[in-house]
Amino acid sequence: MVSASLAYPETVAADDPGAARMANPLTGDVLRTQGALSSDGTSLLESTRSVPVVGTSDVLVCGGGPAGVAAALAAARAGASVQLLEVAGCLGGVWTAGLLTKILDASNKSGIMQELLKAFAERGSQVAVDTQGTVYDPEVAKLVLEELCVEAGVKIRLHTRLVGAVLNDQRQIVAVLTESKSGREAWLAQRFVDCSGDGDLAAHAGCQFDVGIGAECTCQPMSMLGLLTGIDPEEVRPYIRETASSAKPLLLKLMEENGIQPSYRGPTLRHLHSGIFSLMTNHEYGVSAFDAQAITDATIRARRELHEIVNGLRSIGGAWANLAIVATAEQIGVREGRRIRGRYMVSVDDVAQGLRHEQAVCRAAFPIDVHALGTSGNKEIDQSFKSKGMQPYDIPYPALVAADVDGLLMAGRCLSGDFVAHSSYRVTGDAVATGEAAGRAAAISVERQIMPHELHWGEIAKEA
Ligand SMILES: Cc1cc2nc3c(=O)[nH]c(=O)nc-3n(C[C@H](O)[C@H](O)[C@H](O)COP(=O)(O)OP(=O)(O)OC[C@H]3O[C@@H](n4cnc5c(N)ncnc54)[C@H](O)[C@@H]3O)c2cc1C
Repeated sequence: MVSASLAYPETVAADDPGAARMANPLTGDVLRTQGALSSDGTSLLESTRSVPVVGTSDVLVCGGGPAGVAAALAAARAGASVQLLEVAGCLGGVWTAGLLTKILDASNKSGIMQELLKAFAERGSQVAVDTQGTVYDPEVAKLVLEELCVEAGVKIRLHTRLVGAVLNDQRQIVAVLTESKSGREAWLAQRFVDCSGDGDLAAHAGCQFDVGIGAECTCQPMSMLGLLTGIDPEEVRPYIRETASSAKPLLLKLMEENGIQPSYRGPTLRHLHSGIFSLMTNHEYGVSAFDAQAITDATIRARRELHEIVNGLRSIGGAWANLAIVATAEQIGVREGRRIRGRYMVSVDDVAQGLRHEQAVCRAAFPIDVHALGTSGNKEIDQSFKSKGMQPYDIPYPALVAADVDGLLMAGRCLSGDFVAHSSYRVTGDAVATGEAAGRAAAISVERQIMPHELHWGEIAKEA
């Protein structure tokens, strides 16, 4: 039942009854927006509208985080025309907008991961490479990722959110829809790679997915990170993660002795370079990655906590007397979103047994890392995975290929796996390696005019 009708973009008389009006910022005209409001006012049915096609490419990558950048670079270097869509104002995802500062599970990776580490280091970013990972400067990462993509001929569109997917009657994705300051736009491509972290593209295409663990789909907590300055690395050396193995408990003790109770009980302080540090000491529990209001509330809480903790540390005086926040992350760090169902699902048993697979795209070696799911820890979930142990395991190519639609690959934290396996392969060394494989496979499948699921990664790897 329709009780009111709204229209756009017709220009209408300002006194037209029943129209919701807004001033056109460009012309000053009064516009009507098309749509139909339900009689109870709880929903609005949008009218059909024509959306301009603004891009056509061989491969379209959604999300410019570690996985997406690697996918775009690999596809472009394999000869494909590539469109990269990113909602943030920079490339890098959690690496940059999330101010992460540490790359894990990179030392056993070749290809683009090694290239990026070298490029970050050449710009003065890298201060520590060890088995624990590599520290980098997020600002350096932003610049390097943009430069490499531009150099490879990747077309980049920032500030643009993917909001829909269009399939043909063979269940093959043929286009995606975005929203941005340029309005609603359509992008055509032959192959698509979902590197959105949360699996947005695959979900819009109707793919099945899993979220979190248990009946409540409980996810790992989100965390807001920040950059700090005003302390001397030598004076606070015992508290720096990379230089002292007891740094986390020591920093927690210092905080607690001074009345600070951080929501993340393993506060992690890193020295990047030149007196710039990063700090992770916040956990936001039970926040859905698909609830914008819940993420907003968590962001506000987390930023306030970070400032309060820094104020508390500064009040200790001594080495901490001049501690200050340089920046808090623009994007709260999301550890878990959708895990899209692929043609293989990486499982806890694969991790426990150290899976070897003929279509391995990379080997993941980072341990299972399930952060506390709530303030009482992980008591509410089955802990049996802990006794199974962990050995380095292969990520098979079919785990990157969507099960339910054709022409779609996934990489990074939204690839196909279970809750426990995800807690290991979600780190960025593996995001880059899986992104590189997905991008290359997408390009090769275009060149050979076959679907990604018809490729055998073992054969492609031999051709390299
Ligand atoms: C707090 C925290 C600490 C972590 N610590 C470490 C660590 O120390 N070392 C490590 O290696 N890993 C760590 N991780 C894990 C790692 O950062 C992520 O799992 C990794 O970034 C995954 O890479 P990705 O490219 O799949 O996703 P992301 O980095 O999340 O990138 C996804 C990108 O897609 C974009 N996007 C999302 N939806 C859309 C859309 N609809 N349209 C357009 N663009 C979209 C996002 O803006 C983002 O840029 C941590 C994660 C968190 C949250």
